[in-house]
Amino acid sequence: MSDNNMLEGVFLNNSNIEWIEKLDCLTDLHVHLDGSLSLESVRHLCGMQNIETGDDAELSAKLSVSSDCKNLNEYLEKFEFPLQLLQTHEAVKYSVCQLIKEQEEQGVIYSEIRFAPQLHTRKGLSQQEIVEAACEGLDESRKYWKSYSCHNLILCCMRSDDNKDANMETVRLAALYAEKGRGVVAADLAGAEGLYATDTFADVFRDAVQKGVPFTIHAGEAAGAESVKCALNFQAVRIGHGVRCTENPLVMQELADRETALELCPTSNLNTKIYETIKDYPIQQLMNKGIKVTVNTDNMMVSNTTEARELALVADTFNMEKKDVKKLIMNGVEAAFTTEGIKNRLRARVDTQFAKVAGIRG
Ligand SMILES: [Zn+2]
Repeated sequence: MSDNNMLEGVFLNNSNIEWIEKLDCLTDLHVHLDGSLSLESVRHLCGMQNIETGDDAELSAKLSVSSDCKNLNEYLEKFEFPLQLLQTHEAVKYSVCQLIKEQEEQGVIYSEIRFAPQLHTRKGLSQQEIVEAACEGLDESRKYWKSYSCHNLILCCMRSDDNKDANMETVRLAALYAEKGRGVVAADLAGAEGLYATDTFADVFRDAVQKGVPFTIHAGEAAGAESVKCALNFQAVRIGHGVRCTENPLVMQELADRETALELCPTSNLNTKIYETIKDYPIQQLMNKGIKVTVNTDNMMVSNTTEARELALVADTFNMEKKDVKKLIMNGVEAAFTTEGIKNRLRARVDTQFAKVAGIRG
C-alpha cells in the first residue's frame, strides 16, 4: 500500500480492494517496464550483473517514491537504477517475461507494457536489439498466459531536444515489429512534459501516421490542456494521463466526441503532486462528460501499486458501485490496441468474472 493511500485512509474505510483483488479479468494499458520491476526482478537482475543489493527496505527506498516526492521530475529520478539494470538482451527479455508473470498472478489478463528502446542502448545494443529482446520475453511469457489472456508491447519515444533520429528509429521499429506480428502494437511519447512541449514532436508523429502506427501520447500530466489538444491534433488514439484536459472544456468535449480514451494512473498523479489528495482526482468529472477513462498503474514499483489497488482507490474514494468498476475495466478492453477477436474474448471473461465475483450480470 502506498504512503499516499495510507494517508488518505481510503482502504481502511472500505473493502473494495478485497473483491477487486479476486477478479481475474483486469487490464493495464499504461505500465512502464522500468518503473514496474518487482523486488524479485531487481534482485535477479542485480545477481546477473554482480551488483550488490541491500535489504528489502533499502532496495524499496531506492526504487519507490516516498510521500514527499515533489513533482514529475523527482519521480522520474527513480528510473535511473532500474534503467542501469536493463541494458542487456538477457535483462530486458527476463524483465518483460517476469512482469507478465506477476501481472497474471495479480489478475491482469490484458496489458500493454511500454518501454523506450533508446534508453536501453548504453552498453552498445541497438534499439532494434532491445525490441527483439523484449519480444523474446513476451514470447517466453506465453507459458504464464491463461487461455483468455493477451499481452502486448508499446514502444516509447522520449521527450528531449536532441533525439529526433532516435525517436524516428523507435517509430520505424514500431511499424516493423507490428508488421512482423511480434506483439508490438503502438508507439508513445514519454518523459518530462514540463520541459519539452508536445508540439515540438510533430515530425515524429506525422511519420507514425504515415507508417500506420497507432499511438498514445503522455499529455496533460505535467503540462495543461493545450498539450492534450496537441496530441489530438497529431491523431493520438489514446492519451496517457490527460487529466489536465479539465482545464479546457473544449478539449474535454473533443476527447468525448472522438472517443479518445484517457489512460488514467491515479497514484502516479498523486506522487507527482498534480493533485494533493485523491478526492481532487477528476475521474468522475471525466466520466460524466462522456470521456472514455481507463485506470492503470503507470509504474507499479515506483508508485508501489497494483491494478487492483488503483481501481479500489477510485472506487473507495468516489463510492463507486461494482458496475462502475466493471465499466472502467470494460473501457480498458475497448481502448486496447488489439483485435476485435481478442476483445471479444476479454469481454466474455470480464462478464463471467463479474457474475462470479461481484454477482453482476449484463
Ligand atoms: Zn506513464
